[in-house]
Amino acid sequence: MEILERFASLIESSEKIVFFTGAGISTESGIPDFRSPGGLWEKNRPIDFSEFMASEEARRESWRRKFAMEIVLSGAKPNQGHNAIKHLHNEGKVAAIITQNIDGLHQASGIPEADVIELHGNTTYAKCLDCDTRMTLKDVKDTFDVDETLPICQKCGGIVKTGTISFGQAMPINEMIRAEKHAIDCDLFIVVGSSLVVYPAADIPVRACQHGAELVILNREATPLDPIATMTLNLEIGETLRGVTNM
Ligand code: NAD
Ligand code: ZN
Repeated sequence: MEILERFASLIESSEKIVFFTGAGISTESGIPDFRSPGGLWEKNRPIDFSEFMASEEARRESWRRKFAMEIVLSGAKPNQGHNAIKHLHNEGKVAAIITQNIDGLHQASGIPEADVIELHGNTTYAKCLDCDTRMTLKDVKDTFDVDETLPICQKCGGIVKTGTISFGQAMPINEMIRAEKHAIDCDLFIVVGSSLVVYPAADIPVRACQHGAELVILNREATPLDPIATMTLNLEIGETLRGVTNM
């Protein structure tokens, strides 16, 4: 297919590639995304940050959902999409992976922590919202399982939440700054598996484009940023990335 050849040659001729990934890259690992049919959005309306803070019942519901999802998440492994990015990273072409995902699968594929920028945090641990002290999920679960007792920080008594950023919660400042720097600095910016409707994350590809990077969007369905992209590929992620990276 001609478009795949053009995508492959764009990768070949670029020196500093930045990937920007969303829930779509992890569906082939068995983790449902938000907005596909049957995705999490249809099943559970997200609990936003103000609700989480205001209501004990919202916090309980949020931990119930977390531990229900844990069965899927803890067994998930990187798929050919994650592995293709790792393959390009090995060749020294990938400056950073900016991800909206919270599943840790880029790191699990072997990319060093330092090269993965998590815009929406990470769901593999919990932390105090006041003093940032971390708690393991196991510690939270051991108490929650008994009678749904909510976790409280042992150091300061603060509210404990998973390490993820909810709708309505402030974005992590350092990660936003690093993501913006990479977007401005790269020559090829590749969006993989994101509906590009969650802000401010979806502004980052725009910044890359404004600063002269080629923008490629690989996503099963159309996105609002398609009109500014150099190339859009409405294809399946795993086989497409595997194909263009010659894995
Ligand atoms: P989204 O659900 O809004 O969009 C995912 C996009 O990927 C959709 O447009 C879908 O058509 C496409 N897609 C799914 N599987 C695909 C495949 N195999 N090939 C090609 N395209 C595919 O996800 P988003 O843009 O990342 O925004 C949702 C928010 O949800 C993010 O902030 C993220 O934190 C969170 N989230 C994360 C995970 C995870 O960590 N795996 C899972 C669900 C939601
Ligand atoms: Zn604390």
